[in-house]
Amino acid sequence: MRIVMKFGGTSVKDGRSIRHCAKLVSKYSDNEVVVVVSAMAGVTDSLTNAAKKCYTEQSTGYIKMFVAELAKKHYDAVKDAVDEPYRSKVMEYIDRLIDELEKVLLGISYLGELTKRSEDYILSFGERLSAPIFSSALLSLGIDSLAMTGGDAGIITNSNFGRAKPLSISYELVRNRIEPIIKLRGSTPVVTGFIGTTEDGNITTLGRGGSDLTATLIAAAIDADEVWLWKEVDGVLTADPKIVPEAKLISEISYQEAMELAHFGAKILHPRALEPLIKKRIPVRIKNTFNPENPGTVITDRCNTTTGIVKALTLIDKVTIVNVSGAGFDFAEVMAEVFRRFAEAGVNVIMISQSSSELNLSMVIDRSDLRRAMKALTDVDSWNGNVNVSKVDDVAVVSAVGAAMAGTPGVAGRIFSALGKAGINIIMISQSCSEYNISFAVSRDDGKKAVKILHDEFCLSDAVEINTFIK
Ligand code: ASP
Ligand code: MG
Repeated sequence: MRIVMKFGGTSVKDGRSIRHCAKLVSKYSDNEVVVVVSAMAGVTDSLTNAAKKCYTEQSTGYIKMFVAELAKKHYDAVKDAVDEPYRSKVMEYIDRLIDELEKVLLGISYLGELTKRSEDYILSFGERLSAPIFSSALLSLGIDSLAMTGGDAGIITNSNFGRAKPLSISYELVRNRIEPIIKLRGSTPVVTGFIGTTEDGNITTLGRGGSDLTATLIAAAIDADEVWLWKEVDGVLTADPKIVPEAKLISEISYQEAMELAHFGAKILHPRALEPLIKKRIPVRIKNTFNPENPGTVITDRCNTTTGIVKALTLIDKVTIVNVSGAGFDFAEVMAEVFRRFAEAGVNVIMISQSSSELNLSMVIDRSDLRRAMKALTDVDSWNGNVNVSKVDDVAVVSAVGAAMAGTPGVAGRIFSALGKAGINIIMISQSCSEYNISFAVSRDDGKKAVKILHDEFCLSDAVEINTFIK
């Protein structure tokens, strides 16, 4: 079998975990395996903070302290994960990377300028540090391996720094670079997740959580049989267990359901990660590093049904609704202009709803995008007609997802009467005609309660998957 295995940050949080993951990989050494690895847990966040701090505070003392801490974290990991002679080699390599990072941070601090491009460059150090450690851990276990950056592996992106999109030439490049390594050399490459490079050689990042996308892109490029996303949970659950402790593992879901769940806040995978796999029908398996025998959840092109009808519930609880309303304007023109501006400003719209009188367009956006969104809409007065922009803060979006909802009458009725009985007010509703999900906004204080009520209403803790497939 040809398998791309991706390990997330928590799975490689320290040296012992890295060694544990390397052992898991070694169990499958009869197969052709490509490993994709995230930065060690917390590292990407700390790099983001460091970049901002260098730029705003310009303190060289802080930079020295930051890089020393980061170096120590990685040295410690090497000590626990890697044996000699690989240990000394990888230590030297880490030293060089840390040196490079320190220079970049100092440069930013002196210049007092942090561009999106330099921020991506800084963020790339997380994965550039973790991949060689993982690869050396494999070597220590007698598995031939080499570490590669996303760029080395052939992932070429546009220059939308921070949320770069891989270009289609990447598929051929990745195939040409990775296949000889796994097929001819019989080696296990360890590729940095999350990062690519522009055609002129600048490092880019694919957006937070982007290592999933690295893994699926590589899988599609080399026609892998499966992608395995190793995590610290057994798989996809019917709801976040922090909200609903009795949430149940789902053994199989479809690409489309998984994409809906990811879009609406389930932390299973990067919302764009499945795109490369759909045409080639490559399944994704979510597996638990701490419970590797559990079959986990498989994401495929088949949609099975469950007795719950609704398959899973999600919650995004830090969102704002932006309203564009008014009278006497051309609705299509205003919509086009709003979305053009949002796209330009990098504002991600999670959900939209339009009143049929064509006097109101409501959009749910992430709270972190709010400033950019409002700025993008500042001069609405100059548009034709009488356009107003307002917002509703402290909102949560709850989404019920499941292919079996399509064509089943009464689902919306059950959702809204259960919430009505509990005194929960609905602020905004949306259902696309795929009918795979019903999403609605409630006050932030009601979000978790709404998820619990619906989990009960559809008896999701007792739901049984049925092998009836929906086209
Ligand atoms: N390290 C990056 C992040 O934390 C990418 C990833 O983990 O997938 O977002
Ligand atoms: Mg991460």
